[in-house]
Amino acid sequence: MEKILIVDDSLVQAAQLKSILEDSYDVTAVHTAADGLTQASSGDFSLILLDVIMPDMDGFDLLKKLQDEVITRRIPVILITSLTAIEHEQRGLTLGAVDYIVKPFHPLIVRARVNTHIKLYQYRKQAELQSMTDQLTGVANRRRHDYYSALKWQEAARLEIPFSICMFDIDKFKVYNDTFGHPAGDKVITAVAQTAANHLRRSTDFFARYGGEEFVAFMMGESSEKAFEHLKVIRHEVELLRIPHSPEISPWVTVSIGGVTVVPKADSSYNTWLKVADTMLYDAKRYGRNQVFWMDEKMQQRREKE
Ligand code: GH3
Ligand code: MG
Ligand code: MG
Repeated sequence: MEKILIVDDSLVQAAQLKSILEDSYDVTAVHTAADGLTQASSGDFSLILLDVIMPDMDGFDLLKKLQDEVITRRIPVILITSLTAIEHEQRGLTLGAVDYIVKPFHPLIVRARVNTHIKLYQYRKQAELQSMTDQLTGVANRRRHDYYSALKWQEAARLEIPFSICMFDIDKFKVYNDTFGHPAGDKVITAVAQTAANHLRRSTDFFARYGGEEFVAFMMGESSEKAFEHLKVIRHEVELLRIPHSPEISPWVTVSIGGVTVVPKADSSYNTWLKVADTMLYDAKRYGRNQVFWMDEKMQQRREKE
């Protein structure tokens, strides 16, 4: 069931709206703009019905705040108010509201408009998801990585928790393609992606195909020891797939992995640390491939194979 948030200081009005919609939707009602902001940031809503005139912070101010945040910007907002002046309607729409309902409202009209905007939101979400998914492997693509990493990096900085970033690269994959052909290579990329993605399923994990035969992952809230252990398991599991490689290279397909764990500072950038992970990957390659190299919080390098 799609979730709808009602923000209206009038208890009667909010209850009325709720009763119109609760047969078809999971409806939450709050009565101040501040509560509205808190709910909207955490609640995974598909639509917000927002009253314009409220004490303290009004609907226009809340709408502005919602539009300022990456997470809440995408939620459609319908303004509900008794204001009939055309300037108010215009102001609301300019600020980013998708629609405007004037009080007193008719239940059928409210329902019809809400249904329309929920449907549009679902289409948009579907399209976004597709544009952020890698066609070959079904895991997140680089675009999703770029969007999501920036978001999560900020969150980890705010919470002051460790953030681990790692890069994977399939070993001697050019030779694999030359030996077995490109379509066989595609299957290997998919198998490696699925193996890693299976291990990185928590809401604090993220895994994406970065491009070609390279992948990127990050984990939030995990110490470097744990992150390092995790990635060693993934590296080992790829080896256990026992996908035959070109005999002059190695018996099986393997991956090299480089990673780093840091507690993000507000002024440090994700991309700087992604480069450190890439350097670790380069070292893992240089020291013989099929291994994990890690840089911990104290900037000490750890190697899987000494
Ligand atoms: P290294 O161990 O140093 O990583 O060696 P490598 O051969 O894997 O490195 P390199 O980056 O030179 O080659 C990567 C190869 O991956 C080149 C390309 O043929 C192959 N590749 C990149 N994208 C795809 C893809 O989508 N499908 C297939 N089948 N192969 C790809
Ligand atoms: Mg490569
Ligand atoms: Mg490679």
